[in-house]
Amino acid sequence: MSELLPNFVAGRWVPGTGAGTALFDPVTGDELARVDATGLDLPAAFAFARDTGGAALRALSYGQRAELLARIGAVLQAHRDAYYAISLANSGTVKNDTAVDVDGAIYTLGQYAKWGAALGERRFLLDGDAVRLGKEPVFHSQHVQVPTEGLALFINAFNFPAWGLWEKAAPALLSGVPVVVKPATATAWLTQRMVKDVVDAGILPPGALSIVCGSSAGLLEQLQPFDVLSFTGSAETAALIRRHAAVAERSVRVNIEADSLNSALLLPGAAPGSEAFELLVKEVAREMTVKSGQKCTAIRRVLVPADVYGAVAEAVSARLANTTVGNPRNGTVRMGALVSRAQKAAVQEGLAQLKTQAEVLHDGARLALVDADPERSCCVAPTLLGTRDADGAHLVHDTEVFGPVATLVACRDLPHALALARRGQGSLVASVYGSQAGELARTALALAASHGRVHVVSPEVAAAHSGHGNVMPQSLHGGPGRAGGGEELGGLRALNFYHRRAAIQAGSAVLGELG
Ligand code: NAP
Repeated sequence: MSELLPNFVAGRWVPGTGAGTALFDPVTGDELARVDATGLDLPAAFAFARDTGGAALRALSYGQRAELLARIGAVLQAHRDAYYAISLANSGTVKNDTAVDVDGAIYTLGQYAKWGAALGERRFLLDGDAVRLGKEPVFHSQHVQVPTEGLALFINAFNFPAWGLWEKAAPALLSGVPVVVKPATATAWLTQRMVKDVVDAGILPPGALSIVCGSSAGLLEQLQPFDVLSFTGSAETAALIRRHAAVAERSVRVNIEADSLNSALLLPGAAPGSEAFELLVKEVAREMTVKSGQKCTAIRRVLVPADVYGAVAEAVSARLANTTVGNPRNGTVRMGALVSRAQKAAVQEGLAQLKTQAEVLHDGARLALVDADPERSCCVAPTLLGTRDADGAHLVHDTEVFGPVATLVACRDLPHALALARRGQGSLVASVYGSQAGELARTALALAASHGRVHVVSPEVAAAHSGHGNVMPQSLHGGPGRAGGGEELGGLRALNFYHRRAAIQAGSAVLGELG
């Protein structure tokens, strides 16, 4: 039987007492490890994190906590090869895709370490300026932000076992809030190993970082009013979480990152062969294949003027035809596997649904997989679908297929494309391709209310832009409506979630003491 990965709670490594759930290699089908959370004393684990971990973190300044983040980053960097090996085995990723997760995590930690260092010896944050209350200039209101005196529970998705932990833990720990992470079971190994390396390095005070692997049963029940909960995953699980008593009755603050029908828009006038046209084509093909399309930010809908529909279909298909799919251990492979058989089944089912309303423009499955058994492995080739019936093909705007699948949509004009982008009912990101600065700016603003991020690509940033789907810690991550309504990252703004805001009404002398 494979190794049972222990949980780290109340400052100790504790194996579950059940048989555990197996984690697999999605290419070979081999069992790799097991996780189990049966029998854990969750009330004691949460109390230890909240009381011991929280108190120790809050005793430090932002600058000192930033130093801890920098040291965590160094430890992760030192073990990077091990993480690449685990990701290859458990997530079926090629090196470039592992980098998005592992190096993305280390980069994000480094950014928060830098931003935190600039806060220096502060132990709370001033929020805006003092405002006079009343006629005389002696009594004022000053808003402050102080670290919440609870813990942060992270329930994470399977597609980012590394980045998904650290993009949340960096602002939480910097804020002085202890972390309990429950990774998605399918890919929990990498998260568990990173936590183990950080624990072994003795960087964080006891209780600052805990991990529960396996079932989420009983976790939400432990949450108390000053705790916060950050969830990333499907809209269905998100709906259960919103209804949970911890959120509905105890007002636990919750951040939800759910699914999203992100789009890419080509502005009218970008003729085939123009730079804007080529930039869109390149980005669509890239987004469909990076991490086998298992990115919450991936382009799902490509909204283009009807007169270039055929040309875009041809150009994207030509790029996809060069994508070799299969076993990431083979150096010629550019795209690895989906993470699990369950994901493969979900992608195939979603694809079948979309095909009822869209034509197949490129079917990568016609090429043989490299070093991978089509039956046994979870490799799925990229498929580009398309429709000229933008309004009637409602599934295209409703169904998130979490794999290497996108749909090209022919639009009448720009207002039509904008309306279709909004039919995603709130998305994480839209990207816009064109060459006229004024039109690009107006389009970006028109998309801003329904998207967390608008990524504008014009020829001047052709070589410099950070990519439609790359989540940069400098920018907000999250989107309204269907995307979950959450807000993460965006520099030090991310700290707001882990702080409580209060107004201090006092005289000038007292406020002067606050600095
Ligand atoms: P999921 O089934 O909702 O699982 C997400 C997490 O919730 C996992 O850790 C899962 O644990 C846990 N979970 C399952 N049932 C639960 C319950 N009743 N109560 C509490 N926790 C529960 O989602 P998924 O299918 O793994 O993830 C794919 C989805 O995530 C996609 O829709 C994608 O768009 C979205 N996503 C969004 C973002 C973003 O930033 N917006 C990022 C990545 C992914 P187990 O694994 O043990 O079941």
